[in-house]
Amino acid sequence: MAARIVVLGAGFGGLELATILSERLGDDANVTVIDEAEAFVFGYSKLDVMFGRVTPAEVRLPYAEFVKPGVSVLRERITAIDPESRRVTTDAGEHDAEVLVVALGADYDFDATPGLADANEFYSVAGAERLREVLPTFTHGRAIVGVCGAPFKCPPAPSEAALLLHDYLSERGIRGDCEISLVMPFSTPVPPSPDTSAALLEAFAERGIEFVPGRRVNSLDPGREVAVLDDGAELPYDLFLGVPRHRAPQVVLDSGMAEDGYVPVESRTLRTRYPGVYAVGDVATVGVPKAGVFSEGAARIVAESLAQDGRPREYEGKGSCYVEFGAGRIGRVDVDFLSGPKPTGTFQEPSLELVAEKQYFGASRRARWFGR
Ligand SMILES: Cc1cc2nc3c(=O)[nH]c(=O)nc-3n(C[C@H](O)[C@H](O)[C@H](O)COP(=O)(O)OP(=O)(O)OC[C@H]3O[C@@H](n4cnc5c(N)ncnc54)[C@H](O)[C@@H]3O)c2cc1C
Repeated sequence: MAARIVVLGAGFGGLELATILSERLGDDANVTVIDEAEAFVFGYSKLDVMFGRVTPAEVRLPYAEFVKPGVSVLRERITAIDPESRRVTTDAGEHDAEVLVVALGADYDFDATPGLADANEFYSVAGAERLREVLPTFTHGRAIVGVCGAPFKCPPAPSEAALLLHDYLSERGIRGDCEISLVMPFSTPVPPSPDTSAALLEAFAERGIEFVPGRRVNSLDPGREVAVLDDGAELPYDLFLGVPRHRAPQVVLDSGMAEDGYVPVESRTLRTRYPGVYAVGDVATVGVPKAGVFSEGAARIVAESLAQDGRPREYEGKGSCYVEFGAGRIGRVDVDFLSGPKPTGTFQEPSLELVAEKQYFGASRRARWFGR
């Protein structure tokens, strides 16, 4: 029997890790996956939900359908992690692991941005569902897509939100009565890829979207409907679409594993400083962006090493992100974070072919993980 592997979190990282171990080891895999949620939702589905392109029910992939030989999925809330003894406490009991994989993602720190709790954000499922109701009531004035801190998940997503908002308002015939501003802590929309950034800046200029670079939203005054930036500047808004500040889940911070908000790992192997404990995905500091493709790639490396088939590969920090450009077109950026002295990104122009490719990206994971 293989070592007892406990995987904390059933997101991109946890699902891929358990799937590979099940494929390689079958009934002997001896994997337990723990997640408090009832269903998985792709990050990008939040944009589709908020703009009314799909219903919330359509994007939920229930964990009850994640059925793999040698893998059990427990719906429990993790309340404590002891990385020294590899003991995990949940609201239902205790789990002892021989190998522990922390894949709990990044959480949102709403309190870090005063006023945000009374405005809107589109990074959680609940926030996207709320905006689905709010957006139809917006008829004129200024909308701000505002990032409250870095790092944040899926760096292209705020740019995508601004471009999709343009389409949404145009379709309703009210774009001329509205302004759109995008506030971002980076100097360009996608720093590792100058070509992607140039294409996005051109798309903003064509559509009259104001790009405010190198700034983050520090606080909001919902009474006055004003966003206060980190240089003290005030931007009035009629609709605020926020990206909250991120941090590791509280249970990870309380475990003592985190440094500067996330779990440090050896980038090539995803090992933490605790024997038998790995961290993959958004919860870890790997030197790659916080995105599902990177969580999944890191999980593959750990799974192959645990399955011990062949010489273990090293994590290369490569991944492709699809970027919604609006007008029914999608571009792609292929980024490489760990091969060279600095990150690089290659851009593919927005096209209809890439729309089909993104659909395949989602469909292939739905089939692989949930048998749909
Ligand atoms: C708007 C938006 C668009 C995005 N678009 C893309 C995209 O196009 N491509 C892409 O690759 N990425 C995209 N992302 C990013 C992507 O969703 C995340 O980076 C990815 O989900 C991270 O995977 P993970 O496995 O590290 O963590 P997650 O997928 O966040 O999984 C963590 C899991 O841990 C569970 N958990 C947390 N705390 C506890 C606890 N205490 N007890 C029990 N369970 C717990 C959670 O319920 C969750 O299921 C997007 C994100 C957003 C918000």
